[in-house]
Amino acid sequence: MKNPPIVYFVIPCYNEEPVLPETVKRLTEKLDAMREKGLAGEKSRMLFVDDGSKDKTWQLISEFHEGNPYVEGVKLAHNRGHQNALLAGLMTAMKSCDCAISLDADLQDDTDVLDQFVEKYRDGCDVVYGVRNKRDTDTAFKRTTAEGFYKVMKLLGVDVVFNHADYRLMSRRALEGLSEYREVNLFLRGIVPLIGYRSDYVYYDRHERFAGESKYPLKKMISFALDGITSFSVKPLKLISHLGILISVLSVFGLLYALISYFAGRAVSGWTAIVCSIWLLGGLQMLCLGVVGGYIGKIYSEVKARPRYRVETHLKQEEKPEQKG
Ligand code: UDP
Ligand code: MG
Repeated sequence: MKNPPIVYFVIPCYNEEPVLPETVKRLTEKLDAMREKGLAGEKSRMLFVDDGSKDKTWQLISEFHEGNPYVEGVKLAHNRGHQNALLAGLMTAMKSCDCAISLDADLQDDTDVLDQFVEKYRDGCDVVYGVRNKRDTDTAFKRTTAEGFYKVMKLLGVDVVFNHADYRLMSRRALEGLSEYREVNLFLRGIVPLIGYRSDYVYYDRHERFAGESKYPLKKMISFALDGITSFSVKPLKLISHLGILISVLSVFGLLYALISYFAGRAVSGWTAIVCSIWLLGGLQMLCLGVVGGYIGKIYSEVKARPRYRVETHLKQEEKPEQKG
């Protein structure tokens, strides 16, 4: 049997003072159990990222670090938001782990399935997505908006995993792949599928937050969703072109109608010219805007300078030692 992998739990924390002691307790039990089962190596750790908290979160993390050999911490200089905090944690973990699992500090994501994540990793998966079975712990509002969001993303051609948030395992080489994405507007669940490699899913039920309150109010959720769309899709720009073409075509009918009215003597003087120019110019303007948008879209993807490919395996013949003859 292979050596157990070094597993890192990466946990971003923003003002999580009320939940931290319980989180550390549960994850310590979990790591102990995983080590016993041979799923996690001796050097496995949990890495807490303090995302510029205003309460005693960092003080707690340092105390746990003193007393608990599993606990490590990273403190960000200021609050940069969940996605950036998570990235900071993953990039720190990358240096010492075989695989890293990201989870929320409030343990809403079911920790019982952590074993399955690592089992899939051992079977050769580089990315394992945690997918929620059902959303019955959410309010009807959150459920419909969230599911609607995934559908819109799909429609706009963005490859996101339905009902998967940021509960996932990534192997070290997947993390190295992630480190090549240099964009500032981070939307991790959109980037991870782009990295490629073999992936699989683990299904779980999401619990209620057991203490503290959600750091994602509606306003943040909307801006997160918009960020996701505008960071991954230039389709909205293309839509302008389509709209422009549609209106230009419609304007031909508008023109015909206006001209017929004019010749039939049903039009007030001056009306035909005004109506014709409104339709035609409106359509043309929209079309031109779409063309400009097309170029902006191109600049946008160039600026992001995302990696263009990633080699998964490279089969190479061994250098044969020269035969002496
Ligand atoms: N979080 C963070 N920085 C922020 C906001 C949130 O690191 O600016 C962390 C938070 O501590 C938690 C995770 O991100 O571990 C998810 O946040 P939360 O549970 O509030 O979101 P929800 O589950 O309600 O969507
Ligand atoms: Mg939560």
